[in-house]
Amino acid sequence: LSPVPSDIEISRSQSPKAIELLAREVGLLPDEIEAHGKTKAKVRLSLLDRLKEQPDGKYVLVAGITPTPLGEGKSTVTVGLAQALTAHLKLNSFACLRQPSQGPTFGVKGGAAGGGYAQVIPMEEFNLHLTGDIHAITAANNLVAAAIDARVLHEATQSDKALYGRLVPTVNGLRKFSPIQTARLRKLGIDKTEPGALTPEEIRSFVRLDIDPSGITWQRVVDTNDRFLRKITIGQASTEKGQARQAQFDIAVASEVMAILALTDGLRDMKERFSRMVVGSSRTGRPVTAQDLGVSGALAILMKDAIKPTLMQTLEGTPVFVHAGPFANIAHGNSSVLADKLALKLVGEEGFVVTEAGFGADIGMEKFFNIKCRTSGLRPNVVVLVATVRALKMHGGGPKVSAGAPLPQEYVDENLQLVADGCSNLRKQIEIAQLFGVPVVVAVNVFRTDTEAEIDLVCRIARDSGASDAVACYHWSRGGRGCVELARAVRKAAQQPNHFRFLYDLQMPIVEKIRTIAQKVYGADDVEVSQEAQAKIDNYNEQGFGNLPICMAKTHLSLSHLPDWKGVPTGFLLPIRDVRASIGAGFIYPLVGTMSTMPGLPTRPCFYDMDLDPDTEQIAGLF
Ligand code: ADP
Repeated sequence: LSPVPSDIEISRSQSPKAIELLAREVGLLPDEIEAHGKTKAKVRLSLLDRLKEQPDGKYVLVAGITPTPLGEGKSTVTVGLAQALTAHLKLNSFACLRQPSQGPTFGVKGGAAGGGYAQVIPMEEFNLHLTGDIHAITAANNLVAAAIDARVLHEATQSDKALYGRLVPTVNGLRKFSPIQTARLRKLGIDKTEPGALTPEEIRSFVRLDIDPSGITWQRVVDTNDRFLRKITIGQASTEKGQARQAQFDIAVASEVMAILALTDGLRDMKERFSRMVVGSSRTGRPVTAQDLGVSGALAILMKDAIKPTLMQTLEGTPVFVHAGPFANIAHGNSSVLADKLALKLVGEEGFVVTEAGFGADIGMEKFFNIKCRTSGLRPNVVVLVATVRALKMHGGGPKVSAGAPLPQEYVDENLQLVADGCSNLRKQIEIAQLFGVPVVVAVNVFRTDTEAEIDLVCRIARDSGASDAVACYHWSRGGRGCVELARAVRKAAQQPNHFRFLYDLQMPIVEKIRTIAQKVYGADDVEVSQEAQAKIDNYNEQGFGNLPICMAKTHLSLSHLPDWKGVPTGFLLPIRDVRASIGAGFIYPLVGTMSTMPGLPTRPCFYDMDLDPDTEQIAGLF
């Protein structure tokens, strides 16, 4: 239709096929799915075992230029490309997307189901609770937080003997260690299985984690942009006996539990990762883990359903996996390894899996390669880099846009100079993709105001900069048929030889790994490591965590650490303010400049436009 109706109107105008039918079409057996209503189903991981001999399909990553408030459309391209591959090139394909956080859904960005005629339906279900995975993550994360503070309180107020009596109670006249306690004893080097045999010193080291309250790194989380929780005081009731301390909430999708969900390859691995999660340190500087707290088994219980990817469909009935949703600026920004692995098996050798990395290629794609691919062992065949004429104009020096205000004329009228200047950002992102040795296809996501000359210019510059191909895409206004040219270009690029390589060796010192990303990817002259960050790095090295990959927490709005610096910034030092570690997820996590792990709400958040009709239960205003 022209003009293209709103995303929610389009979504509602199409009746999705029954989820059981979709599951059958993609080759799932009836007992491999758990339906959640009529349009969503969890897929059991036993499928991986059944299809283990099946060769994988082709693996395509969708990334983008540095985002601007004008929107790039990576999700729409991911969906549109999968629609085109399936319906028009008759190739099996799957799209793998992240579950959106409710923070941005009700805050500024809106949903993440794609849009126009390239979206996942029903978009309300995709954008809201889905199958409850983020709620499970919140519950698991906050159980750890509660366990930490309760343990500090109990250790502060009880003798060794009383603690031992409660931690290893007498049941029917017998004391017995639980398996998780046996594991802790082993870690402490206490080779005894009889609770009565421990010496007073051994009892003391067993019952006292001796957590340093100022060394607690685990935060509580909530899936709302609630800026007032960025710094809080907890434990102020008299029942907490003076154990008050300063703490903070992060957005739920920044939780290490989310990062683990996205990186794990199964229940056993997820459990092990949970037990390794470091929540803080003891007064003597030892790392304290979730296993020390005895909580890791409970976390696995809370997450046992969330580990299964959710099957949905696009507007044209193409299968989609929605799974995990770590932010790309404060976490690793990619959907789950498990969803990609299941999809690669289901599409078969000739098929395609299109998966999306958050934000610009410098962020989401770098982490996709260096963290996700390293963990999964999967190797991508093609990178699709999404660009829009209007975003390139902003990188070329176009004026700022403010929410709610009319779009400045520069973005409406043809302006080849701004486009040409802004292509510096596209060129740089192509170069970054090439550092990893994977062929790049540029997708120009066409907006109504773009002119033919502007689109041609972007495609020409992209090809001159080393892209295998560059094509205009009309999926937003035309669905899969508007994206056939991209599908053909991707199919062709997937035949090219692939020289995939990582950007850095894990054995390199932590600062060298950070410097490599800063210089080669962001274009910085060097890094500037604060004293606090250096002390943490030294500590992580001592604790034996020096060989982990790096997950930079950096603004997504610029290649540099300064959000307003568009185009290709040069001549800057990248400030490393602090460094944290997600040991269970398996990465070191430097904080660059002033990155917040809890977004805030703007003056006019998205929720102002939302409403529910009580008679029909129809949602309005969800974009
Ligand atoms: P990203 O994944 O890069 O954040 P999305 O694919 O989620 O971007 O798109 C952001 C918003 O922009 C969506 O509401 C979508 O409908 C809209 N959009 C995307 N492409 C176009 C287009 N070509 N024309 C108009 N609106 C578009």
